[in-house]
Amino acid sequence: MRIIRKKITVHGQVQGIGFRPFVYRLAAELNLTGFVYNYTQGAIIEIQGSKDNTELFISKLKQGGSQIPLLKITSMNITETALITDEKSFEIKQSTAIGTVSAEVTADIATCRDCLAELFDKNDFRYRYPFINCTNCGPRYSIIKSIPYDRPNTTMATFTMCDRCKEQYENVEDRRFHAQPVACPVCGPKIKLCDKASSEIESDSDKAVSETVRLLLAGKIIAIKGLGGFHLACDAENDEAVKLLRLRKMRDYKPFAMMAADIAKIRQFAYTDKTAGAILKSPQSPIVLLPKKEPNTIAPSVAGGINTFGFMLPYTPLHHLIFAEKKLNALVMTSGNIADEPLICKDSQALEKLGCVADVFLMHNREIYRQVDDSVIHIIQNEPVLLRRSRGFVPQTFVLKISAPADIFAAGADLKNTFCFVKQNRFILSEHIGDMADASVYKHWLYSIEHLKKLLEVNPSVVAADLHPNYLSSQYAKRLKKDKFIEVQHHWAHIASVLAEHDIDEKIIGIVADGTGYGTDGAIWGCECLVASLDDFQRFGHLSYYPLPGGDLAAKETIRPIMGLMKKYNLSIPEKILKEIEPEKEKRNAVEKQIERNINTIATSSLGRLFDAIGALCGLGNYNYFEAQLPMALEAIADKQVTEYYPFDLKEENGVTTVEIGDMLKGVITDRMGGVDKSIISAKFHNTVAEFFLALAKQAKNRTGIKTAAVSGGVFCNRFLSERLIELLKNNGFTVLFNQLVPANDGGISLGQAVIAAKKSG
Ligand SMILES: [Zn+2]
Ligand SMILES: [Zn+2]
Ligand SMILES: [Zn+2]
Repeated sequence: MRIIRKKITVHGQVQGIGFRPFVYRLAAELNLTGFVYNYTQGAIIEIQGSKDNTELFISKLKQGGSQIPLLKITSMNITETALITDEKSFEIKQSTAIGTVSAEVTADIATCRDCLAELFDKNDFRYRYPFINCTNCGPRYSIIKSIPYDRPNTTMATFTMCDRCKEQYENVEDRRFHAQPVACPVCGPKIKLCDKASSEIESDSDKAVSETVRLLLAGKIIAIKGLGGFHLACDAENDEAVKLLRLRKMRDYKPFAMMAADIAKIRQFAYTDKTAGAILKSPQSPIVLLPKKEPNTIAPSVAGGINTFGFMLPYTPLHHLIFAEKKLNALVMTSGNIADEPLICKDSQALEKLGCVADVFLMHNREIYRQVDDSVIHIIQNEPVLLRRSRGFVPQTFVLKISAPADIFAAGADLKNTFCFVKQNRFILSEHIGDMADASVYKHWLYSIEHLKKLLEVNPSVVAADLHPNYLSSQYAKRLKKDKFIEVQHHWAHIASVLAEHDIDEKIIGIVADGTGYGTDGAIWGCECLVASLDDFQRFGHLSYYPLPGGDLAAKETIRPIMGLMKKYNLSIPEKILKEIEPEKEKRNAVEKQIERNINTIATSSLGRLFDAIGALCGLGNYNYFEAQLPMALEAIADKQVTEYYPFDLKEENGVTTVEIGDMLKGVITDRMGGVDKSIISAKFHNTVAEFFLALAKQAKNRTGIKTAAVSGGVFCNRFLSERLIELLKNNGFTVLFNQLVPANDGGISLGQAVIAAKKSG
């Protein structure tokens, strides 16, 4: 029998998910000797034995995914190496921190089925223990201070394992072998219920849970410490409680997310199909936007003005214990913060900042090191599409064909910020950070960049940022004064994010539907057709510019885009409608003068503002109290049966095609005055946008011969528009790519910037 020895270097998501025990069992099964250990880029395996068995080992290793749900092998390097004569067994060696670095820290994972069974098993020593976890579930990213992912490098370092836990932790046959956060009621973290002054109300775990439920049912607001931060919770069926939460949290209108015990409960309030069910139950356990069922018993103030509810399932043992009391149907579970500030994860900060919101605090003494919000998903064309990429997904790496010669930092955009690091061909996107306009978000952003730089051991010498000179992110990036500073036009970055997640490096037709983005001509772009690759882009066509007065106010007060559009297309809007939108004639005159005199007025092709204008013209409101409130309200009422659309024109000037929408606007006003139902006007408007994008794409296809279209931009968070346009493009012979793994909104910008920078510096 021929004996050989092989060295296998495995890259990908292999740490902290039970990969080494799997390797151990496989080696034992096949009578192989050798070892496995984690290193900073993945895992290294050496095996020695008969040629047949080593080959069998390698082929089974490649199929490992079916046995380890979280395993993701991105590459495997196999070499033959010298035999070791006195080796008797296969062992799991200590991790090493040596080597070039870009370890795959894994994401936080919802409680698995096995742990859940033990949680409610009276005979298990972790019966009703709120921190039960194993290699297949529990905290990861949120507790890691540095790599490699071993207990001393996590916030679990302060807890000394008891003998029972240690035995499982060290037993390679056990589900908890090297599960770093392993703990039990004897040795691990504990929960307590306390008041705003941090005085203990209840320290007995079971009593704390039942008291929490009692208080929730009594209409109280409770701050609950979770996996990636605090939630503010209240009974979702109690309108008084929800209203009080809105008042105290200073959040007037923006919809709240909810948690319900199981899918059957969610079905009482919303429609879930097979796809939605699978996403809700996935290890990532995100919030899923689901069509509302009417009537329902959810408090009206949870999510007014839209046609969806955001639901998630319990994803920590503590959540399961709360719902196991079987008294609550659904809880509002909104991020523990005030207004737009970052999510709170530290106990002291929670008591200080949330003391005016929460009546009591359900806390625990396991520190959260990195705050991660809940991820949000909606379903487009029966596929999950991320709207906010955080818990469960971060810091999963995108491994692309493009490789960067030097480390890259991409700063992202100022709204819905995420940032991105690149190390060779690995693109690591941060969790959702938030809107930079809030000073505390900006501070958190700076801190997060430094922490992740250390955690991922990147040392960027290339920096990419948005072209916008006033973005805080761009200004910071510029100040870094690195070897290379690459400015990327906003909408090109949107399209590049689609190319990146599909790992495509070719010229395509890019369709961008967005709110705002700084253009190369200094105008604010937002409704664009680009012919783009990762090397460059041309602006093929866009919505004809209209004047937009009022800077930041223009995204809130709908009278501003309306007056701008009136001016542009010489429209007369009946006084009856105008009065509804802005009752004060003086104010209207002032805006009109502002446009005429070109004071603080900018040329724009923003599609977001057009949606605002149409929403207001339909009588849905005159002010966006939160971002995209009116566009969401407009989408919510659109009648899916309607296929009609308004007329529009394409014009050409200096080789650029513009979309002229004067006739469409007249159509909307005529319909409104003629008493046509808003649901029909809304649908016709959505259809018009889809049709003019199709017309632009067809023209671009005819000129260039390109048949692949990529769609991106914040307005594509609109499900009605996305599905209509994708359908139209497909029916007209296009291959259509859209964002799924990164948001189509500005949360995806940093990945686009990063991949362009990687291409440019290659
Ligand atoms: Zn588990
Ligand atoms: Zn223990
Ligand atoms: Zn954008």
